Amino acid sequence: MIRRTLPPDPPRLISTLLLALLTACTRPAADASSDAGDTPTTRPNIILISIDTLRADHLGCYGYPRDTSPRIDALARESLRFQYAYAQASWTLPSHMCLMTSQYPHVHGVQRESQSLADAGVTLAEALSAGGYHTAAFISWIYVSRKFGFAQGFDEFTELLPTKDQIDNATTAAYKAEEVSDRAARWLDKQSPDKPFFLFVHYFDPHIDYDPPPPFDALFDRGYAGSASGKYAWLSTFIKELHHQPRRIAPRDLEHVVALYDGEIRYVDTYVGQLLDALQRKVGLDNCLIVLTSDHGEELDDHGSMEGHQWTLYEEVIRVPLIIRPPGRRPRTAVVETPVELIDVASTLLASAGVATPTAFQGGNLFDLPSRGLPAARPLFGEIQRHNRRQFVRNGRYKLIHTDDIGKNSRGVPVVAGHELYDLSADPRETVNLARDNAELVRTLTAELEQMLTLTPESGRTAPRAASLSDTERRQLESLGYVGAGQPAPAP
Ligand SMILES: [Zn+2]
Repeated sequence: MIRRTLPPDPPRLISTLLLALLTACTRPAADASSDAGDTPTTRPNIILISIDTLRADHLGCYGYPRDTSPRIDALARESLRFQYAYAQASWTLPSHMCLMTSQYPHVHGVQRESQSLADAGVTLAEALSAGGYHTAAFISWIYVSRKFGFAQGFDEFTELLPTKDQIDNATTAAYKAEEVSDRAARWLDKQSPDKPFFLFVHYFDPHIDYDPPPPFDALFDRGYAGSASGKYAWLSTFIKELHHQPRRIAPRDLEHVVALYDGEIRYVDTYVGQLLDALQRKVGLDNCLIVLTSDHGEELDDHGSMEGHQWTLYEEVIRVPLIIRPPGRRPRTAVVETPVELIDVASTLLASAGVATPTAFQGGNLFDLPSRGLPAARPLFGEIQRHNRRQFVRNGRYKLIHTDDIGKNSRGVPVVAGHELYDLSADPRETVNLARDNAELVRTLTAELEQMLTLTPESGRTAPRAASLSDTERRQLESLGYVGAGQPAPAP
């Protein structure tokens, strides 16, 4: 198999409305009259919004009862919303690389902070640039920076990263959403209507530390009088992978920490709304194809630990929101139950832009789903190779997680190697490991997992380049639980 295509079975779970919607959304934006923008284009402007560390199930449009996301929910109401979108890794660098290259982690090869995308690697921005798009990015964390190859294909690449003085004095950990949206809006002011653009905007706010500015810090837990904090320094004592015998967070403290995380989401939602307002004013949303997603989720004691992310592959860290608002004014609402992967996003955007898909891309076109079918025969895959080595494969209702036997993880804590098997239909929170009593199913899914690891595009795999961190960068990453002491997981 060269490029992973969507299976040929007829759709079973997709809304019947979807076929008409997707047919409509493949038409150029200029076909749709617009009362909002005055710069119709023959091809849509493309806006890709990534909100770091955003669990799908903490958004209102994904059923969360707390009002964390009014603007994103409003966007989702006029979009295709993918109920089961999976990241291919549970931390920022490899996951964003999958999003941008449409390749699985073992193919693009960027799985640790010592690795950067090869020059020969092909990115979404490069493909769109070659197809006539003006390309620009605003990123707010080092793991999505030029250092790791993310600038490839961008005409303008703005890194909103703290200065050395800010890091040394711990005054600014990362740029806030307000600044990111403001910078992107100012960039929009300068765009010419003559050429479609691709704009990538990366927000960092829901990531640890959970410290939203007022009033978002107290929005969801006004009465708390305890000492719990959203800072990594406080939360790290509850992380299983760091301690042989981690403490367990108290229920009331957990409530408060979750309220802080949710406050970050509501804060970033406000400024995503500001970006959408700017797009409406400058070019009209009807002339845009907008994607909103995340690179991974976050564990908030779901599996007995305040793990954050980067360590495991449970649903709370790999299921992400995926909302795609097609161009035009036609009805666009649909909930897609088909499980999909982040590597599908780039292929979908290129198809919508009328740009040929590079042979290096492994993702499918999500707009083909109605005619190309559904999920049962389509495995989904992801992996991490950093502090430990884990892979997952999901096929239909079952999900297998495999943990390699490497003895101890990068922090010296013993690794429990082996298989975990979950029935996501009956047990969506992955509480009961069925592996011991279902050896045949484990064998079948293990074979599928091994098959996924052999997938290689026609263009072959690229060996990553070496990347290195400065002392300042290393100190900043250590303060949020990255890098630090210990040895990396052994090479495959
Ligand atoms: Zn991230």
